[in-house]
Amino acid sequence: MTRLRGGGPVPPGDPAGTSGEVAPDLRRLAELTEAIVACRRCPRLVEWRERVARTPPPRFAGWEYWARPVPGFGDPRARVLVVGLAPAAHGGNRTGRIFTGDRSGDWLFAALHRAGFANQPRSLHRGDGLRLTGAYVAAAVRCAPPANRPLPGERDACLPYLVREMDALVCARTLVCLGSFAWDAALRALAALGHRVVPRPRFAHLAEAAVGPYRLLGSYHPSQQNTFTGKLTEPMFDAVFVRARELAGI
Ligand code: SF4
Repeated sequence: MTRLRGGGPVPPGDPAGTSGEVAPDLRRLAELTEAIVACRRCPRLVEWRERVARTPPPRFAGWEYWARPVPGFGDPRARVLVVGLAPAAHGGNRTGRIFTGDRSGDWLFAALHRAGFANQPRSLHRGDGLRLTGAYVAAAVRCAPPANRPLPGERDACLPYLVREMDALVCARTLVCLGSFAWDAALRALAALGHRVVPRPRFAHLAEAAVGPYRLLGSYHPSQQNTFTGKLTEPMFDAVFVRARELAGI
């Protein structure tokens, strides 16, 4: 069974748009992963992701960095898609798995574990046994950017990958957007999928918006800037995933 692009509204308890079982589109996801990993569209980011790999900080000396774009990761049948900003230079760019090996990822996967989406609270490297159930994690930009700030052209160049991912994740209608950059990317992707995003909903922590059959849910990004200052606390972050489960009907 395939999903119709840009289909009509779907009740939260039936996010696949059908009362029957929906087969995940594994072939499309595999092709997408292959395309992402091979991508060299953004010269500045290609140079940066490879440069930081050649000059790791002492704590990561001896690591063989991934140093390529980082694809999404998780359950192909996910009803919840978590969208972040971009891989960290010494996190996903080192380990090859999104949000893996950095402090933001420590927060994210611990919260996903508490919410019942992850089989373990930590994510250290690609072979650590982490499995997600009901959730998929991706980034708006797939290469680590200097200072965690992609340029507008890089953001736009990478957007088609998120569009394709949303189209291939046939059950994912709840989008948890970590930060305003991810919120904006999700709205752009929804527009590219043919959904009307006017008036444009504003980002806030626990903000919600309905766009076509999708439900957007905003969360402050679990960056150290937010978690160290108390702008984002564990209870605040847990509330996001409790609500995500409700929106996704799980
Ligand atoms: S940021 Fe995206 S579009 Fe740019 S090189 Fe990386 S994967 Fe390709």
